[in-house]
Amino acid sequence: MTEKTCLNCDRAADLIPLISLEYRGETYAICPQCFPVLIHKPQNLAGKLPGIENISPADHQH
Ligand SMILES: [Zn+2]
Repeated sequence: MTEKTCLNCDRAADLIPLISLEYRGETYAICPQCFPVLIHKPQNLAGKLPGIENISPADHQH
């Protein structure tokens, strides 16, 4: 079994809390420090989460 590490910074759960994600049938983990990247700049995770760059940021109507 492979140890879960943050998909962005590769830190393991013995160093930092990890949040489990499910995406396209796979389970990934991300740490709280990288979570805002997933929210605001998901395209920065292209290559780590296949297809994530196609997700457009949520439009906030003001
Ligand atoms: Zn991280």
